[in-house]
Amino acid sequence: MADNKLSIEEMAIFCKKKGLVYPSGEIYGGLSGFFDFGPNCVEIRNNIKKEWWRFHVQEREDIVGIDGSIITNPKIWQASGHVASFTDVYVKCRKCKKPNKIDKSEIGKARCECSGEYEVIGDLNLMFKTNVGPVEGSTAYLRPETAQLIFADFKLVAENSRLKLPFGIAQIGKAFRNEISPRDFLFRTREFEMMEIEYFVHPKNINKCPFLKQVLNHKMNILSAELQKKHKKPVKMTMKQALDKKIIKTEWHAYWLATEHKWFVNLGAKPDNFRIRQHTKQELSHYALDTWDLEYNFPFGWKELEGIANRTDFDLQQHIKHSKKDLSIFDQETNKKIVPHVVAEPSLGVGRAFLVFMFDAYNDDKKRGNIVLKLDPKLAPVKAGIFPLISKPELIKIARGIYNELKKTYNLNYDKSGSIGRRYARSDEIGTPFCITVDFDSLKDKSVTIRDRDTTKQARIKIADLKDILRKLIDKEIRFSDI
Ligand code: ATP
Repeated sequence: MADNKLSIEEMAIFCKKKGLVYPSGEIYGGLSGFFDFGPNCVEIRNNIKKEWWRFHVQEREDIVGIDGSIITNPKIWQASGHVASFTDVYVKCRKCKKPNKIDKSEIGKARCECSGEYEVIGDLNLMFKTNVGPVEGSTAYLRPETAQLIFADFKLVAENSRLKLPFGIAQIGKAFRNEISPRDFLFRTREFEMMEIEYFVHPKNINKCPFLKQVLNHKMNILSAELQKKHKKPVKMTMKQALDKKIIKTEWHAYWLATEHKWFVNLGAKPDNFRIRQHTKQELSHYALDTWDLEYNFPFGWKELEGIANRTDFDLQQHIKHSKKDLSIFDQETNKKIVPHVVAEPSLGVGRAFLVFMFDAYNDDKKRGNIVLKLDPKLAPVKAGIFPLISKPELIKIARGIYNELKKTYNLNYDKSGSIGRRYARSDEIGTPFCITVDFDSLKDKSVTIRDRDTTKQARIKIADLKDILRKLIDKEIRFSDI
């Protein structure tokens, strides 16, 4: 259970109250598994995607991005195996009648949360079907993942971007799955957004990661398939120890698991709310050599946040076979054409990432008497609140001037209504990291008061320095106490 003990239902209520997330089309009763996002949530989600893209694509030389189509040639989904086997086992509880999905390996073992036995109804393909154009029967699918477009476009992207192995192709976009039982708020929905990378490596180098040094000392809670078989708890160790003990088999897996954990922690998530869990033999997909999930300690238990599979050359070979196109690339080192292997496929849902940051940021501050959402300033929907102390024209003029200048760079909130304490509380509740107040002294000393959300400490700074200081605070180049 996450430290703050907020349940997923309470988080859904908080998100609705703060205008972050609503059931989609609520005036008509909503639709199970679909949500709409309000203004501040759009900002947070855009910030999550921006930080993900910056960290995984812009700051790296070896990864480029694409944006594939949501509806594409259905042959892609035949080649990938989705048409034949992207299914869940549809079950119904004999006692409470609730529908659910279970893994094939759980048939006869899994029980409903009410402890009732499950009746197996059958296999259900999770892809949404649609009809393209006016002719009935031209069936296409809404993509259930973004990954396949990366494989289908692989050769074009690799050649046009002049990429040399090892390299990755990333994509952020919507995916759709007709989940049997959407539940746990944004955790399992029917429409969601994914942030995915397919990372390609020369088949000779599937255990040679040039970036390994960056993560060798990184510690994580590790739950291997072996530990699960023995009903043991996860063990905390460094990536080096996990590789030396052959718990994690490839350097690439160690690198990507640690890198993904670091991404969350660098953006304010609590390190010990994460663990990595290896898929057991029964769970492993037919195409995967080894899969580890980055899991998070949700209020409803440890659950998959991000799946990181070693898919070998399965997908590219499938597309070569079905399209009859040569998708191999030329390797200059060996002067040969090769089909690279995908050693890791970090695949993360934006909704699940949003929940992690919200749970780890949520603080019920009894002393202040309000919720304080301690989101990393980079993720916060509003970077600063700009307040004239009272509604007097001379103070409003300065405050509007600051607002108009800073809003060219940041999403801000100009607020002149209510007591300053109320305005601070409103800002705390949506995670605004800094509040800037213009008072009567500002008229004389051309300075303002800046208040830190996390400590409530205040400092006086010159209006002329505000832009620079705000940037440094958001980028964590300085701490508030350095002002
Ligand atoms: P699960 O076992 O939870 O159904 P999965 O193993 O089918 O997940 P993947 O196909 O590996 O999921 O998808 C990659 C990531 O996409 C998941 O780790 C999760 O973050 C996100 N995701 C998948 N399905 C959903 C969904 N229905 N709602 C929200 N996010 C999802």
